[in-house]
Amino acid sequence: MANRETMRKIHRYLRGRQGAMVELLGKVVTLESPSDNPAAVERVARFLAGEWKKRGAKVNLIPAKGRGPILRAEIPRKRPPSSYGLRRAGGAQQVLGLGHLDTVYSVGTLKRMPFKVSSGRALGPGTVDMKAGVVQALFAVEALRALRLHPAAKLVFLFTSDEEVGSAAGRPVLEAEARKSRAVLVMEPSTGLQGALKTARKGVGEFEIIVEGRAAHAGVEPEKGVNAVHELAEQIVRLKKLVPRSRDGLTLNVDVVEGGTRTNVIAERARAQVDVRIARMTDGKWIERQMRRLKPVDKRAKLIVRGGINRPPLERTARVVSLFRHAEKLAGELGMKLEQSATGGGSDGNFTAGLGVPTLDGLGGVGGGMHSPGEFVLVRHMPERAALLAGLLLTL
Ligand SMILES: [Zn+2]
Repeated sequence: MANRETMRKIHRYLRGRQGAMVELLGKVVTLESPSDNPAAVERVARFLAGEWKKRGAKVNLIPAKGRGPILRAEIPRKRPPSSYGLRRAGGAQQVLGLGHLDTVYSVGTLKRMPFKVSSGRALGPGTVDMKAGVVQALFAVEALRALRLHPAAKLVFLFTSDEEVGSAAGRPVLEAEARKSRAVLVMEPSTGLQGALKTARKGVGEFEIIVEGRAAHAGVEPEKGVNAVHELAEQIVRLKKLVPRSRDGLTLNVDVVEGGTRTNVIAERARAQVDVRIARMTDGKWIERQMRRLKPVDKRAKLIVRGGINRPPLERTARVVSLFRHAEKLAGELGMKLEQSATGGGSDGNFTAGLGVPTLDGLGGVGGGMHSPGEFVLVRHMPERAALLAGLLLTL
């Protein structure tokens, strides 16, 4: 357990590095890195690889199909495992720090939204989601090294390249590391300007409903047609009634519909995309079953249902709460009051939580305006957030 004096020493060191943190954040934000531009993501990955090496990490870039590389940095363990690890982790030897390099902003966004610091806010594309988190992780490790504090676990950091587009490439890599880990710390932005951690995230599902009908002249022989748009409309009304109140936290929204070709042709085809959020995995199984069971109202129409739950929920289990309590205590030593929060949005933490590995999310920057022109991170919180992360890395 890091005592008050250790935590304050770390914090003091990091306060002295605030300027350097902001400067590095500027460089990382200036290397724009949209998920769909592998070459751009590779540039930021290579730059950060250099920064990790400077801080004593063993670094490699893991190729990801169709995406930029995944950055992996490892800090070997130098002392025996902690009692925390032995008690709670079934012998897992490492702690995993998780983040992503990609952003939702295309290259060139900087022209409209340049990196700048004003009134204590660092603004620019991807500042809080989540380049501040990436920078804080680097400085957390730097502080431990500078102060000769040796973590109880081997530390592995993974920065994936496709989190903003579903993590198809990142998922197998991060899941393999999570299986070897006693805890996962996710450097996604915190909730609100109080910097609450995220101890519950909803799981996410995506479904597609395709209706195949039959085209006919809408005026001359409508009886020969099977109207796919009408059928889809009936299905949407059914979907709205599908979720009982008792399934607390389960939401279903039809967010995209399309169908038909022109007004005098009975629509042959229609489709809908459905967003589903779940608070519990059991609700995921239930909704998948219900979706598969949909039957056409007009027997002549054909229904095709695709998709399913693609991110399990991060549930607020006893082990997650215990991890949060530990963070709360460390924050307390710095005079910070740490809250926990729940969100409907998913992150890569959902995958690691889905494997049953205790996952604490929202450890990154404190800010707002994610995925919007006003995105910002509060500069003065960067040292204390990095100190909190350093404390966790030291003691887990
Ligand atoms: Zn993010």
